[in-house]
Amino acid sequence: MTRDDLKNRVIDYLAGKLTCKEVTEAITDYLEGRLSFGKWVRFQMHLGLCFACRRYLRQMKLTIRTLVASRQWSATS
Ligand SMILES: [Zn+2]
Repeated sequence: MTRDDLKNRVIDYLAGKLTCKEVTEAITDYLEGRLSFGKWVRFQMHLGLCFACRRYLRQMKLTIRTLVASRQWSATS
């Protein structure tokens, strides 16, 4: 078993088998507070362990902030 195999197994175990694909698919639900509690907990655990998904979440938040900001801009101008 390689180090990566081991890491993936630990992530699988701790993150309750939530995959990166599921995280990216559920990210808008997460940001809008629409996840069930059980899924939210697994989501948090996955984010705690997965650098790629943390980075993705940060990008999503930035994108949304930019969208909201541009919407406010056009509403006030
Ligand atoms: Zn991930």
